[in-house]
Amino acid sequence: MRAEIITIGDELLIGQVVDTNSAFMAEELNKVGIELYQITSVHDDAAHIASAVMAALSRVDVVITTGGLGPTKDDITKHVLCELMGGHLVPDKSVEAHIRNLYKDRPAVLNRLTETQWLVPDNCTVLPNRVGSAPLMYWQTLEGKHLFSLPGVPYEMETAMREQVLPVLQKESSEQITHRTIMVSGIPESALAIHIEDFENALPENIHLAYLPKNHTIRLRLSGYGVPVETVEAEQRKLIALTRQWLVATEDKPLEVLVGEKLKALGKTIATAESCTGGKLAMLLNKHAGSSVFYKGSVVAYSNEVKENVLKVNREYLEKYGAVSEQVVALMAFGVMKVLNTDFAIATSGVAGPDGGTPEKPVGTVWIAIANRKNVYTECLHLRGDRNTITDTAATLALVRLLPRIA
Ligand code: ATP
Ligand code: MG
Repeated sequence: MRAEIITIGDELLIGQVVDTNSAFMAEELNKVGIELYQITSVHDDAAHIASAVMAALSRVDVVITTGGLGPTKDDITKHVLCELMGGHLVPDKSVEAHIRNLYKDRPAVLNRLTETQWLVPDNCTVLPNRVGSAPLMYWQTLEGKHLFSLPGVPYEMETAMREQVLPVLQKESSEQITHRTIMVSGIPESALAIHIEDFENALPENIHLAYLPKNHTIRLRLSGYGVPVETVEAEQRKLIALTRQWLVATEDKPLEVLVGEKLKALGKTIATAESCTGGKLAMLLNKHAGSSVFYKGSVVAYSNEVKENVLKVNREYLEKYGAVSEQVVALMAFGVMKVLNTDFAIATSGVAGPDGGTPEKPVGTVWIAIANRKNVYTECLHLRGDRNTITDTAATLALVRLLPRIA
């Protein structure tokens, strides 16, 4: 089955909102073996929406739109799709009950605009929107095509995809697709490709290998189309054996999740002391529900004053070696571990640029430290890119270095 996504909203076309909905949906569709053919973004304009939907329906089996389902005048998706599919808007008792229940503690939200939310096309299936008010609409056309209309709010769209859309599509899609992913770090993509060239050439025709590099890590994803899971897993084992010296993970989970799982299993805790990463590690470590079990907190020690007064890095060291140094980053890690009473700590200090580089410490020089109660591991990273890339990569590599040291 092939699909297209149409994201609707002026805000997407003026750069005000980044279209993250498409990325999420693309990934989810791919996981269930539905090939995404095209992504289109259109204005909140009736003719534009209608022509995009018609064109997509002529090309593929599944069309999913997001956005424009709100009760305000600028949200017109429901009207346009209803007319396009030849229906009429009629009040729906169960949608009304759901909306009244959703707003039972906030009566002020119920007014003549919100009341239009329970008008739905009389020729579609209304799927429940558990977390929002806009009804999710699903049409099956005479040609057997599927058209879904989902809200623009990412959280509502994600819930709708997982709970409503994917189960419907999985029933329809006949092809079994299996992904198995590993993550490596410390080898350039091209060198890796040469290293595993024979393996890649020997892969069965219906198993594909994809390289997904990001922030000095590379995910290698094996995708099997219509082959047993065991066959894909056998190939994954070969890949693991070939890449063992660079191997970071054998599951497709974000690094911070793997770190969290390992810390939780051991009942250990962590804190971070961040200079150049400015809280990026903190953000990663508290990103997922349940992180309070292993993540205690962070000190964003950007200035030397904070390094000295909060983390107790002694001033002589700061003056003698500079803030971006092995000595200081190690003391930052021990400092935060003591202040926050944890088993592990990560510290970062570097020159993120674009200014502040010197011949000895050019932009991209980042010291990281990983400490436990007894030891500290330090490493000087030499990174390239803009400020954001440098700090993202430093945070990622800090987690990569931490992972095998959690014990
Ligand atoms: P609402 O009922 O809240 O109005 P809606 O279905 O009408 O929902 P929109 O008004 O189009 O949705 O979008 C609501 C918000 O969701 C936008 O302000 C934007 O922040 C976010 N959003 C919309 N489309 C996307 C998208 N494609 N990617 C990421 N965020 C989006
Ligand atoms: Mg809206």
